[in-house]
Amino acid sequence: MPRKKVIKILKQIKINFEKFLEFNDYNTIDTRIYIKKENKYKKLERYNKLIVLENEVKNCRKCDLGNSRLHTVFGEGSEKAKLMFIGEGPGYEEDHIGIPFVGKSGKLLNNIIASIGFTRKEVYITNIVKCHPMLDKANPDRRNNDRAPYNTEIKNCMYYLNEQIKIINPKIIVTLGKSATKGLLNIKENISTIRGNIKYYQQIMVIPTYHPAALLRNINLKKYVWRDMKKIKKILG
Ligand code: SF4
Repeated sequence: MPRKKVIKILKQIKINFEKFLEFNDYNTIDTRIYIKKENKYKKLERYNKLIVLENEVKNCRKCDLGNSRLHTVFGEGSEKAKLMFIGEGPGYEEDHIGIPFVGKSGKLLNNIIASIGFTRKEVYITNIVKCHPMLDKANPDRRNNDRAPYNTEIKNCMYYLNEQIKIINPKIIVTLGKSATKGLLNIKENISTIRGNIKYYQQIMVIPTYHPAALLRNINLKKYVWRDMKKIKKILG
């Protein structure tokens, strides 16, 4: 074959090959844009679903707690959180502000969350009931008026927590204290026995630990919570 013809064929092969590479680059970029858009859409969809659910909670009077509350306390944090914390129920401060885990317990929870490298905004925080369980429901403005929720109240409110779990779909749920652990897992063991053990709720890993309020009462419990957090950090990688 004449040399000129060989060069012409080689040039054409080079052009075709470059076109092929360009096409693949374009496809890769296009796929990345599509995935980004899809993730953004999913995030928005989760956010919207949570807003709708929160409005349902605001109007809820399924149990007696709905008649004495000052504010419903739905939950706070990232709609795509890997880690979800579930406490017992709103107390005095939460009832007045409408945000979960404020005050001394809230500060301690923030520190616990920070100890495993997260901020409060990166996790999701809620309670097993969304309204303040009170000893004296006629006096929502009285301090030290908190109590644990009754089983009937937990059962009535469980629908909202289930929906939150379904929407957020976290990798790990951390139940804080006896009420949240027993309410979610439907078990009889004490928190001191079950804490740090891996359980499952609707195929999502659950790790129970002590409630921050318990740590404020008994500093010796801190070491157990620290052990549980280390385990969580290791699982999340
Ligand atoms: S505690 Fe739950 S079920 Fe009861 S009124 Fe409040 S939102 Fe409704």
